[in-house]
Amino acid sequence: MLIAGNWKMNTDRQQAVELARDVVEAVGESSIDVAVAVCPPSVNLDAVSAVVGGSLVRLGAQNMHAADSGAYTGEVSARMLQSVGCHYVIIGHSERRQYFVETDQSVNGKTAAATTAGLVPIVCIGESLSERKSGQQESIVGDQLRTAIDGVDLISADRLVVAYEPIWAIGTGLTATPEQAQEMHGMIRKILTSTFGQDVGSGIDILYGGSMKAENADELLAMPDVNGGLIGGASLKVDQFAKIVECARNAA
Ligand code: PEP
Repeated sequence: MLIAGNWKMNTDRQQAVELARDVVEAVGESSIDVAVAVCPPSVNLDAVSAVVGGSLVRLGAQNMHAADSGAYTGEVSARMLQSVGCHYVIIGHSERRQYFVETDQSVNGKTAAATTAGLVPIVCIGESLSERKSGQQESIVGDQLRTAIDGVDLISADRLVVAYEPIWAIGTGLTATPEQAQEMHGMIRKILTSTFGQDVGSGIDILYGGSMKAENADELLAMPDVNGGLIGGASLKVDQFAKIVECARNAA
């Protein structure tokens, strides 16, 4: 299980350090069954790394470029993220697909580059409201996942995380029901086991993301293929975030 906080474009350096300190204090002694990660803005990764280093809280970035280095103004590579202590990197978040023209193909390139470098990508997939209303959620999300992991070589299940994030639930207060989440996670699991084999595919964490909070985390995390959460808004409030981690510990 993994509970990861996506801080998005929030927190200046001081706020990031303070929030990271609070998270370490609240959940830094996390159980071995539940990993915890924070993903601050890239400019604050180094400062947060110094705070979480030595605790069980892991560091994640929110994006990366697929190339190792070069003339890509404004971008950072997997190697750079590793050099400041990142373990995870979020890839293909719906906000990046919507505002920064990320495609299934670019997500594939970044996913492959992250795994090759030894970073663990948290690959985000999910359907829009109109796609769900027209019953296309399984084909859309299935296609996103198949393209994202095409040609990706995995040495073990802990080298990849998938986050199912229905776009209509992100930052809206709307949440998928546990049954809706399990239906999608079960489909994702089938694709993972057929791609990577039963042993690896069955061990990959599939996170749910979309207005997960302390009040609904228990029932979502009770689903067999919901192996954690990618938390946006609630990850900025340490008491909310800690409660979600507690729910995951109870479910693990
Ligand atoms: C997210 O951005 O990944 C997310 C799940 O956001 P929120 O929890 O705020 O819906």
